[in-house]
Amino acid sequence: MTDAPAHIVIQRLTKRFGSVTAVRDVSLEIARGSFTTLLGPSGCGKTTILRTLAGFYEADMGNIFFSGRRMNDVPSHRRNAAMVFQDYALFPHMTVFENVAYGLKIAGLRGEALRRKVERVLTDLGLAGLEDRLPGMISGGQQQRVALARALVMEPEILLLDEPLSNLDAKLRVTVRAELRQIQRHVGITTVYVTHDQEEALALSDRIAVMSQGEVVQYGTPWEIYYTPQSVFVADFVGTANFIRGQVREAGPHRFTLDFDGSPIAVASPGTGLRPGDTAILNIRPEAIRLTTTRLDGFGGNVLAGRIRTHAFVGQWVRYWVEVPARQGPSPHEFIVDVPDPRERGVLDGRVFLCLEPGNLHHLQAG
Ligand code: ATP
Repeated sequence: MTDAPAHIVIQRLTKRFGSVTAVRDVSLEIARGSFTTLLGPSGCGKTTILRTLAGFYEADMGNIFFSGRRMNDVPSHRRNAAMVFQDYALFPHMTVFENVAYGLKIAGLRGEALRRKVERVLTDLGLAGLEDRLPGMISGGQQQRVALARALVMEPEILLLDEPLSNLDAKLRVTVRAELRQIQRHVGITTVYVTHDQEEALALSDRIAVMSQGEVVQYGTPWEIYYTPQSVFVADFVGTANFIRGQVREAGPHRFTLDFDGSPIAVASPGTGLRPGDTAILNIRPEAIRLTTTRLDGFGGNVLAGRIRTHAFVGQWVRYWVEVPARQGPSPHEFIVDVPDPRERGVLDGRVFLCLEPGNLHHLQAG
C-alpha cells in the first residue's frame, strides 16, 4: 500500500438495531483502487458496514469519509458508490441492454451516447452478443456480470459488493471471481467486498478486514491474515489451524521453547515478549507440517510421534488426521496435516512422525 490518503475512511463507526449492536466502534482506512474484503461469520456486521457506506443505513456514532469528504449526511444517490447485491436484483422483464442502460436513462442520457456507453461496458465484461436476452435466458455467471455492468456503467468511484458470487455453483464461483478481480484491476475502482468465504477473500483481496461480533479483529493483506493471524479466532476462521498450547520454558529475543504436554517445542519467533512460565498458543498450518514414517533429525528437535486416525483424499493433496497420545489428560491431541501429490509416496497409514519447523510455528498474540 502507498502513503496516499485513503479513499474511504471509516472512523469509529457504531450501528445499532434496537438492542443489537451490529457494528461496534469500527475504524478502517481503504486505499484508492484497492480491493478490500470484509470477512466474517454470519451476523458479524459485514453487510451493515457495506450498507452504511452505501448510505442505506445511518451511523449511530462515528464518521464515514470518501476522498476526505464526510458522507454521513450525503444521500445514497449522491455518494458516487454503486452496490451490487447477492441476488443481482436485475429487472426480469428488461433485456440485458435495458438493464444496463436503466440508470443512465434515469440520469437523462439518450441515443448514441447511451448506446456507446452500454456497449463498451458489455464488451469489457464479455457480454457482447447477449444484449437482447432477458435475464432468465442467460446463465448465473452472466447475470452476475450484468449486475456488475449495470453498476460500472454509472462510472462510480466506489463499488460495494455484497456476496455477489453466493448464488453460483462452486466451479463457476472460482471462474467468476477471477474475472471479477480482472475487471476490478482493469477499471481500477475502489471495491469493498463482503463474504463469509475465506478462500474467496484470500484469492480476491488486497486487504482483508476479519470481523467478529461487530468488530474488526484483524486488518491486513491475505498473506498476513493467513500466516500471522493475531488471534485464535482469526487463525481458525481463515484456513485450517493446528493449535499447540503450553507453558514457556525458556525465552530469548528470537526464540522460545514451549512445554507441549511434556515435549519441548522450539519456536523461532522474534519479539514476542514472552517470559518463562507464560502460557502461549501456537498455530501451524496443515501444509507446513512434514509427515514422515521414520524419525528425522533437525526441525529444532520438534518431532512428535503419532498415529494416523483417518485421511481424506481431495485430489491435489491428502488430508490426514493424526493423533498424538496425551501424557496429561484423557484424549489425544489431534493434528491436521496436508500432504501434496500422493502419487509420489502413496497414502500413509499407521505410525508417523510430525516434524514441525520452528519457523513455521506462529505465536498467537491473543486468544
Ligand atoms: P450475513 O453474512 O449473514 O449477511 P453479516 O455479517 O452481513 O451477516 P449483518 O447483516 O451486518 O451481518 O448483521 C449484523 C447483526 O445485525 C445481526 O445480528 C443481524 O441480525 C442484525 N441486523 C442486521 N440488519 C438488521 C435490521 N435491519 N434490523 C435488525 N437487526 C438487524
